[in-house]
Amino acid sequence: MDEKLIIIGTGPAGYTAAIYAARAGLSPLVFTGAQLGGQLTTTTEVENFPGFPQGIMGSDLMFAMSEQAEKFGARYAYEEVLSLAQESCSGLFVVTTSGGAYKAKAVIIATGATARYPGLPGEEKLIGHGLTACATCDGAFYREVPVAVVGGGDSACEEAAFLTRFASEVFLIHRRDQLRASKAMQQRVLSNPKIQPLWNSTIAAYHTDAAGELAAVTLRDTQTGATRELPLKCVFMAIGHTPNSAFAGALVERDAAGFIRTLPGSTATATPGLFAAGDVADPVYQQAISAAGMGCRAALDAERYLLSLE
Ligand code: NAP
Repeated sequence: MDEKLIIIGTGPAGYTAAIYAARAGLSPLVFTGAQLGGQLTTTTEVENFPGFPQGIMGSDLMFAMSEQAEKFGARYAYEEVLSLAQESCSGLFVVTTSGGAYKAKAVIIATGATARYPGLPGEEKLIGHGLTACATCDGAFYREVPVAVVGGGDSACEEAAFLTRFASEVFLIHRRDQLRASKAMQQRVLSNPKIQPLWNSTIAAYHTDAAGELAAVTLRDTQTGATRELPLKCVFMAIGHTPNSAFAGALVERDAAGFIRTLPGSTATATPGLFAAGDVADPVYQQAISAAGMGCRAALDAERYLLSLE
């Protein structure tokens, strides 16, 4: 049977859309993708989500949202969406996943964004062997050894602060001499004696030991071009994210970075019946709470669209 509404993604945007759509009686089918719960499941404590004055673990927050949506009738399919198309005759959307093909009258894309790597030679082989984008997942493996975080934003600062629990020393490698992170986050990092900022620096090359594990990097000074070697057991990349929008093909319009464009004041995309919410469609705010808010709006927009078809 054709679905009324399919929601793709289970971060704050997808779950909030699912809660609203389920409460509206739409019984949405939600595709979880490979990373159930999205990026927040790889973070530690979330201190700025309203309603949790003591903070809440990202994974606990996502689990609670998941339960809340399910309670109202959202259904989960633990499959990864591969492509999205639209039947020209019926106007139905066809969502092709790792498990099959599903048809729906409306779709909400809430697939978030994926951590970016600089694309240096040998990088792919090193991921999981001293190169990662998730301190929460991998930090505890690197106890009493030197590690580095690359980036100057909130993520880089958060990861660096977290890693001081384990590492002997945390280098913060940033390409400029000023952090982009919020003032509070900057203060937390710059006042921590275990964190050493390396300003105006980028990684030019990785070096491995005989076992293929990261052993050192070549640092390049972005001002002078001078290089030097820095022994490290792990590098945690925090240089931003790429929106997961490619699977939607020509059904959506994107900006130069791949973020889905929505119509002003709406979550509607270029295709009627197709909506987008959260980090995949938000190059500016990228917060859990703003993603959740956009998920709510997408569900309301989808509900109105479905009513207009009746
Ligand atoms: P971001 O703010 O875009 O920062 C990315 C950082 O990586 C920037 O410092 C950038 O340098 C650097 N960078 C980008 N490309 C690079 C490259 N090729 N080589 C070296 N460095 C590179 O990303 P983010 O830190 O992931 O944060 C994303 C959003 O989530 C932000 O809105 C942030 O406020 C939010 N966030 C909030 C929290 C929190 O409130 N607790 C935690 C995490 C994230 P430049 O500065 O030179 O551009």
